[in-house]
Amino acid sequence: MARIIAVANQKGGVGKTTTAVNLAAALAAAKRKVLLVDLDPQGNATMASGISKRDHRPNGCDVLLEEATVAEAIVTTEAHYDLLPGNGDLTAAELKLMDALAREHRLKEQLAKVTGDYDTILIDCPPSLNLLTLNALTAADGVLIPVQCEYFALEGLSSLLETIKAVRQRLNPTLEVEGLLRTMYDVRNNLGNEVSAQLTQHFGDKVLRSIIPRNVRLAEAPSHGQPIHLYDRSSRGAIAYVGLAGEMIRRERNQATASATADAASHDHEHPATHDAVAGIHQE
Ligand code: ATP
Ligand code: MG
Repeated sequence: MARIIAVANQKGGVGKTTTAVNLAAALAAAKRKVLLVDLDPQGNATMASGISKRDHRPNGCDVLLEEATVAEAIVTTEAHYDLLPGNGDLTAAELKLMDALAREHRLKEQLAKVTGDYDTILIDCPPSLNLLTLNALTAADGVLIPVQCEYFALEGLSSLLETIKAVRQRLNPTLEVEGLLRTMYDVRNNLGNEVSAQLTQHFGDKVLRSIIPRNVRLAEAPSHGQPIHLYDRSSRGAIAYVGLAGEMIRRERNQATASATADAASHDHEHPATHDAVAGIHQE
């Protein structure tokens, strides 16, 4: 069963798409089966994956409107992950969904049919807390929040966290914050360090250890339609995203071990009760 991760922050230009695309590629390079869902009408993740956003039908819009299945709409990319393409049609889908029943659950229902085929499903969200983002947060197990290490970085985070809380209450009780990812970090800039320290102070170990540096190769790669590891695998940007993929895989393993241990502990708990019951029967 795939773990579904929404890459979200309603603040624009913080590195959501760069993270979604390059994490998808790095996980695929680590032999994970990955689906990237482009849920942003800008279609940036689609283009950055080397797929034309103009002429691809069916796409995410058709899937949200139940006119196609995810399996019918996906394309395989050069970097070996699958992509559910998105483009401006998503805006039309959002408008049409406004009047639909259970409108926040569409993506979840559609992805449920393919979760068995993947290890990870990443959703690139638009820069707004709209119905498309709500669909992503309803479908997701975790939210990965890219935060640009600059002056107003913390601004807007509280409304995102409020939204996540509201989604937990109304739509998706098990939604977790996967982590906050520091992006476009510049070592020469003191501000980066200050913002980083503030984030750690507020959010503790929810701040991921991996840090994505500001790196011009990351900014160039999308115009070549390639994730960074195909465009320039030795760049600092490429190395950082490989590190992030490793951190995500380790976290997942640790969580799996922790829940297995908790399961075993609860079984151990059952044993004395079972023994008592058996003892009780013998005494009779
Ligand atoms: P939007 O809110 O519009 O969807 P976004 O949050 O998806 O934006 P990106 O598109 O990933 O952000 O990044 C914004 C711009 O910054 C892009 O031009 C991208 O190439 C560039 N960029 C992203 N990450 C880095 C980085 N680590 N170093 C240098 N440039 C970067
Ligand atoms: Mg984007």
